[in-house]
Amino acid sequence: MELESELKKYFGYDSFKTGQKDVITSILAGRHTLAMLPTGTGKSLCYQLPGLLLKGQILIISPLLSLMQDQVEQFKKFGEKRVIALNSFLTVAERKKVLCNLSKYKFIFISPEMLSVHFILTNLQELNISLFVVDEAHCISQWGYDFRPDYSKLGGIRKQLGNPLTLALTATATRKVRDDIIRSLDLDKIVKIDSTIDRPNIGFYVEKLPDYRNKQYRVIELVTRLEQPGIIYFSSKKSAEQMASLLMDKQICRAMAYHGGMDQNSRILIQQQFIHGQLDVICATSAFGMGINKENIRFIIHYHMPMQIESYLQEIGRAGRDGLPSIAILLYSPGDEQLPIQLAESELPSEQQIDWLFKKANQQHTLPDGRMNLNKELMTLGGFTDIQWRIVEEFVGNPALVTRNPERLQEIINDFIKERLLFKKTNIFRMKKWVESTLCRRAFIFDYFDEKMLEQTPSCCDICGLQLDDYQTTSKVSTVKNTAEENWQEYLAKILINCELRE
Ligand SMILES: [Zn+2]
Repeated sequence: MELESELKKYFGYDSFKTGQKDVITSILAGRHTLAMLPTGTGKSLCYQLPGLLLKGQILIISPLLSLMQDQVEQFKKFGEKRVIALNSFLTVAERKKVLCNLSKYKFIFISPEMLSVHFILTNLQELNISLFVVDEAHCISQWGYDFRPDYSKLGGIRKQLGNPLTLALTATATRKVRDDIIRSLDLDKIVKIDSTIDRPNIGFYVEKLPDYRNKQYRVIELVTRLEQPGIIYFSSKKSAEQMASLLMDKQICRAMAYHGGMDQNSRILIQQQFIHGQLDVICATSAFGMGINKENIRFIIHYHMPMQIESYLQEIGRAGRDGLPSIAILLYSPGDEQLPIQLAESELPSEQQIDWLFKKANQQHTLPDGRMNLNKELMTLGGFTDIQWRIVEEFVGNPALVTRNPERLQEIINDFIKERLLFKKTNIFRMKKWVESTLCRRAFIFDYFDEKMLEQTPSCCDICGLQLDDYQTTSKVSTVKNTAEENWQEYLAKILINCELRE
């Protein structure tokens, strides 16, 4: 079978991107496969094409609802209608209907949480699953930056589904994480396909600024000068909204904010407008980007420092999918690491909260078998967020940990919290080290992923002499020419005056 002609037939592409063909060949040969392909190189094709060629059904475990929806849309664009996402977007009635007709679907997307629901698993057991796909497989590992407790059950679920052929996909996983994925899925013979994590057409640029106000000015200046479209990432929803309003109000560009706090319809609308070129800039939190299929994103600016190198690479990987030069700029001002540290702490329950919970449970919230009765009332009273509560449930509800000794369980939870926080802080400080690096930024990343840098990239990073002027838009060059020598605040004032004149 000529894979290229199948690719052309189903998707209209002439050739495969790096790594795709190796992964597809391995799957079609019936081998379990762990593939690490960089963001922006078309990971989904690695199960889409074999899925169409294999006889049975394809089950894809995906961590994010928005990502699942995007994938479903992508399929429909290629004319494949036998695709469904089993997630909380479906009403109870819709879900029932889908479950009764599961065998009609070729591609079934499901969240790991839903896969843990007994009657859903029973329904899936009736099917002939020819490929079990674990997307974003780094979520399996405790050493992955995005560990999801439900992902760690996938090995057991795979067994209950009759050990189907398995494909684990990730864009960014260190060697330790990759070993963990294989162990957790309990796959004895597995083909490992590691494509380079490098995207040579994306240049790295870090700029240090004295404070956040200067950062705001700098963002406006950059947006004016750089070739568009682009994405500006923020760690806070409020900052993303403020910047989008500023860019719009001053008529600097067509910008909108995008974050997890917005309703689903607005999010889809903004995403579509950006994809179709009706918006120039998206001011987003990390909620934006997974599954975004836009080829010509020219810049990614980070207004805040990401929590780890892995998510930084995922986010900048959305630039330059057309292979043309693109730039990733990170703006840093002293103390910027405090925000990710706060975020890391807020994702975990505090020791005081756990202590309170166990005392409370001792008094009144115990089940007849001695287990703690976790209910929403306790969650609210203890001030737990959803994420924090999920961690508590994971431990208290774990059959392996049901113990007659609550003190021991409390100790186990507290140890986990401490270890997790230490892990997250180590990641944040590694990111900061990257920002402060005086050696090549690309080499630093290669080193972290145990990869060897074989050749020098022409537009590598600021340390290697990359010039931002090379990424300047040609249409505005006349207006921004010779500004390098000027004080950029004066330059900014000029832009703002011009904008006001236009208003
Ligand atoms: Zn470099």
